[in-house]
Amino acid sequence: MKEKAREARLEQRIIGLVPTMGALHAGHLALVERAKKECSPVFASIFLNPKQFGPHEDLSRYPRPLEADIEKLTAAKVDGLFLPDAAEVYPSGFSTYVHVEGLSERLEGKSRPGHFLGVATVVLKLFEIVQPNFAYFGRKDAQQLRIIQRMAHDLNLDVEIVVCPIVREPDGLALSSRNAYLSAEERRAATVLYRALCAAATEVHAGVWDSMQLQRTMHKILESEPHARVDYAEIVDAESFESVIRLGRRSYALLAVHIGKTRLIDNMLIEPTGDELRVEL
Ligand code: AMP
Repeated sequence: MKEKAREARLEQRIIGLVPTMGALHAGHLALVERAKKECSPVFASIFLNPKQFGPHEDLSRYPRPLEADIEKLTAAKVDGLFLPDAAEVYPSGFSTYVHVEGLSERLEGKSRPGHFLGVATVVLKLFEIVQPNFAYFGRKDAQQLRIIQRMAHDLNLDVEIVVCPIVREPDGLALSSRNAYLSAEERRAATVLYRALCAAATEVHAGVWDSMQLQRTMHKILESEPHARVDYAEIVDAESFESVIRLGRRSYALLAVHIGKTRLIDNMLIEPTGDELRVEL
């Protein structure tokens, strides 16, 4: 991988990187498509990073449809797939980690201790190996994205982080490799995340700037779904991920909800434009 990337750099080409954990869907492919427009070569990586899974999380049952993934990346015309194995990424004695303070402890980080330590560490390693000019991430994982931006800034990395919109199913469910775990009934119930965000969006459009009221609205919808158990439903500042009392700065409505045994996340971006608020689902 380093050799390929070095060759491209010597030829002054613009390298794009799309990091994934595999089980690819249209959300991942949208990142590749965007990268193809802006970079050549485009490299994708598939690495199911053990260090970002807690001991009781779904690492062992995470889907690994490698052949299908390779077909999709080939059809999308990526120029290379980086597929390292865990022993190569974390050789024995590995002991260096990247900790993005503060941001890593809230919300996802609170529910999944150590998760962002694993994410930031592996993403920095990928950046060091490939040294891409541009790296593509989905807004679906908003806190992860923010942490990677923070890390790139704090460590003076020469990579531009490109944010891509959330790709959804026709009924609004955000695409996720974990949707494969849902039974038919849970799949129907899973639209509750999108419905809760839409209810909040409707209130924002009606002029509600009070984040407590928006949170109550989201909770009410989420709690009306018998298969759903809310982990958090919060409005936070889009930079610091600290709670927001009154909207007015760029913020996120963030959801983490268990549907049966599957934990799903989703979010909505709320942006002030003049004296109005614009939402992006
Ligand atoms: P993952 O394989 O889950 O680690 O995701 C790899 C990348 O794809 C991350 O940058 C995710 O934010 C992005 N991604 C996952 N699902 C979606 C989606 N539904 N829409 C847009 N990007 C996504």
